[in-house]
Amino acid sequence: MLLGLCEAVMLIIIGVSERKKGLGQELRPCSHCGRETFHTLEQRQPWFSFFFIPIFPVESPSVMARCNLCGRERRVLDPPLTT
Ligand SMILES: [Zn+2]
Repeated sequence: MLLGLCEAVMLIIIGVSERKKGLGQELRPCSHCGRETFHTLEQRQPWFSFFFIPIFPVESPSVMARCNLCGRERRVLDPPLTT
């Protein structure tokens, strides 16, 4: 059966997307490989999105550090001050 002219299909796309912001490099000890290596610091914050457009943040931002040697990531509890 065909749809009438008054009937329409409405598609709503909602979800959560993550915004990322690079904070630079920092020398830190790695808990996985056991060496003091440079880590890439990144600030991440999930946002509610409507049709793939971020509308408002869902959580407060967190800072993650990724070891440049082994790739292990962990949350930073003492993030560096950003300007
Ligand atoms: Zn490592």
